[in-house]
Amino acid sequence: MTGPRYTKQINALPSSVPFVGPDQSERERGAPFVARLGANENGFGPTDAARDAMQRALTDVWKYGDATSFDLRQALANDHSCTAANIVVGEGIDGLLGTLVRLLIGPGDVAVTTLGTYPTFNYHVAGVGGRLCSVPYADDQPNLETLFDTAADVDAKIVYLVNPDNPMGSWHTGEDIARAMHRLPAHTLLLLDEAYIDCAPVGTEVPLPFADPRLIRMRTFSKAYGLAGARIGYALGHPELIRSFDKIRNHFGVNLLAQAGALAAIGDQAGLQQRVQQIAAARAEISRIVQHQGLTPLRSATNFVTVDCGRDGAFAKAVLQALLARDIFVRMPFYAPQDRAIRISCAPFSELERFAHALPHALSEACQQPT
Ligand SMILES: *Cc1c(COP(=O)(O)O)cnc(C)c1O
Repeated sequence: MTGPRYTKQINALPSSVPFVGPDQSERERGAPFVARLGANENGFGPTDAARDAMQRALTDVWKYGDATSFDLRQALANDHSCTAANIVVGEGIDGLLGTLVRLLIGPGDVAVTTLGTYPTFNYHVAGVGGRLCSVPYADDQPNLETLFDTAADVDAKIVYLVNPDNPMGSWHTGEDIARAMHRLPAHTLLLLDEAYIDCAPVGTEVPLPFADPRLIRMRTFSKAYGLAGARIGYALGHPELIRSFDKIRNHFGVNLLAQAGALAAIGDQAGLQQRVQQIAAARAEISRIVQHQGLTPLRSATNFVTVDCGRDGAFAKAVLQALLARDIFVRMPFYAPQDRAIRISCAPFSELERFAHALPHALSEACQQPT
């Protein structure tokens, strides 16, 4: 066959699309969802301050965004009591994960993750021909000791830890993570994905300086800040590691509207706190709804509640399918035993009400299925 000559790594990859988003699902179903509770978006939306700033920035959209996100990095540095040299801004955590993986992982290099946790990291590792080593959850939590010991055993370049975790909603305290880090070999970088840190209890942040060379933290405006569609996030780490992003990152990838929105969002901490409270109230409401149907909500430090359906993966999948058939978009973990659960994103009460209405019907339909 003639055509472009793909790299060995690309030729080795499947051609399927690993991430099917809700919009594509709607097109495939031929019907819109009435409750969008599957992508951990923030249905409460950005605060007025962020929205207004983006609207004002619209007249300048003919310009490229500032390639160094200078103002935003200054504001983030103030907010985190560090310096701008500790911060790189990127196209969401997903984009930053890709850049970090390209910085550290070459063909055959090893990274360690938790089996069934947020999968985009794996996708990037596969894309550069890296090798992935997956450690099972322990009690629905990433297993710190096994993760770090495995990293030592396989001489991993990166160990990826999502805290609080997606899809389980569980979390480790920052103290526990810092304490377990003595197990990490000197040349393994801890990549901490803190997409949900804004929703988590005090004490979830790792009590180490941002300049500690053993770890890099990634945060986002997609979840608590409600700016998922703007595609903007940042990483906090040692200045040398942060500077190395400049070698390969997409310098004009963070658009002008996103920078304006994020800057205003950082400046509106009262607005953020309001969103965090709305998310907490929605978590309580989801828990109430599912308990009313005899299901068990797992404790969550995120903007979703993972709900134990009380049986096996096949049953949870039947519940999920029955919800989808009622135009309720939710997702579920991929691997046993975590796949006994479905994952419900926080959202305004009007949407949760639709979920509450559909759930008993979905459950009785799932119960009637042969197992
Ligand atoms: C949602 C999510 C992301 C994606 O963040 P973006 O900044 O929107 O790319 C990354 N990691 C985890 C664990 C998430 O749940």
